[in-house]
Amino acid sequence: MKIAIIGAGAAGMTTAYLLNKQHDLTIFEKQPILGGNIRTLNKNVTGVELDSKLVLDCGVLEFQSEHFPNFHKLMNALNVTMEQGQTSSELFLADGHYYKSGAGLLHHCKNLREFLTEAQKLFPVLKGYLRFLFVAFRTTPKELHNQPVSAYLDGEIHAVWLKMLLMYAYSMPYQKIADFPAEIAIPLLRHSSMFTKWDRVVGGVYTYIEKILEQFDGEIHCNANIQKVFRTPSGVIITMKNGENLPFDKVIFAVTPEQVLNLLGDTNEDENRRFSAWQPNQIETIIHTDVSFYKHFGVSYYSEFDVFQTDTHGHCGYNAYLNRLYAIDAAKYPHYSLAYNMEKYIHPAKIIHRQQHNTPLYSVDAVRYRHEVIATNGENHTYHAGAYLGEGLHEGAISSAFAIAELLK
Ligand SMILES: Cc1cc2nc3c(=O)[nH]c(=O)nc-3n(C[C@H](O)[C@H](O)[C@H](O)COP(=O)(O)OP(=O)(O)OC[C@H]3O[C@@H](n4cnc5c(N)ncnc54)[C@H](O)[C@@H]3O)c2cc1C
Repeated sequence: MKIAIIGAGAAGMTTAYLLNKQHDLTIFEKQPILGGNIRTLNKNVTGVELDSKLVLDCGVLEFQSEHFPNFHKLMNALNVTMEQGQTSSELFLADGHYYKSGAGLLHHCKNLREFLTEAQKLFPVLKGYLRFLFVAFRTTPKELHNQPVSAYLDGEIHAVWLKMLLMYAYSMPYQKIADFPAEIAIPLLRHSSMFTKWDRVVGGVYTYIEKILEQFDGEIHCNANIQKVFRTPSGVIITMKNGENLPFDKVIFAVTPEQVLNLLGDTNEDENRRFSAWQPNQIETIIHTDVSFYKHFGVSYYSEFDVFQTDTHGHCGYNAYLNRLYAIDAAKYPHYSLAYNMEKYIHPAKIIHRQQHNTPLYSVDAVRYRHEVIATNGENHTYHAGAYLGEGLHEGAISSAFAIAELLK
């Protein structure tokens, strides 16, 4: 069959890989480069002042070792080398206080005295966290449906910390996390702790997209300007902004969900219901070499994922210290970090790259009809893939591609 895949992020590229041998595929990507939120400097992102021997990810970074089975299945099939690490995250408050993570406590205290002081500070946080886990493990998927995460996480310090980790994981402003769907957040938080192992792709995340491209036989159009997609009784017509009409047997939307109704020229009532509550979420991440702001807190150890309250009005950000994640020698290279919403602390001259990202804005209303989208995949010659149909991370994107490949095999 002749199949159009719209969107070349993780979901679109994996679908292309899985359907490559059986079908005649055309990928349409509106950006000049492939990968969606996979942005690897010195790979799909070029022209950055960065030593040519280094690759740094400025978007997707890490993958859970145990809870991303389809992702790991894909990496094995593509023969991609992974490296495992443990990550820690410290919490820095606007009033100057900070809390070490469990891993930080175990590995990065200078002496027993510091260990005891930090452990004592952490005790009430741990108590709140255990209380949260007790409730989270007893809650059924049905009970989580149509609930915001704020029903489980309040204003206590453990809750603030966990909501900041959700801000990091889903690249959403902290103020919008209260309405984040519990059905996605709670399962993720249940299996993410200081003991969780995370994997990274050696050579940068874009490495696996390169491996897909080595095998791909279809056509790829970057900078694609699609006007509308129409379904006919026998297939699909894609109308380009230049007036061309391109016929296909099937179309796979692997775009962020708020794009679906903009692209469809003949939406029906069901599609309107399923997609109309999705909103866009545009954020910027930066790669920088400024760690001087840690001095305000008297800290000389930088964790893989530190989260910061940047003021007392609920603004927050994160700093992921890349030298530790990528084992980059800080004696030889600068201190590289990936940061979000940390502009206030970072000297502009130390910013080496700015990256725009589009992600779905997760809310209780937006995810309400996801099960319908999944259940009706294939109706009207139309399929949908994307991280938003799963847990919102890479496993969701890859699993949605596997599900479509199963339907179209
Ligand atoms: C900064 C950041 C860090 C992240 N870190 C991690 C991480 O460490 N681990 C993890 O598991 N997940 C992470 N994520 C989540 C990440 O979004 C998902 O893991 C996954 O990459 C999403 O893939 P996707 O294919 O569903 O969507 P996307 O990557 O958003 O791909 C959608 C594609 O569709 C294209 N598109 C949109 N509209 C059109 C159109 N009209 N025509 C043609 N093409 C169009 C877009 O340009 C894009 O290329 C991170 C996200 C961000 C933003």
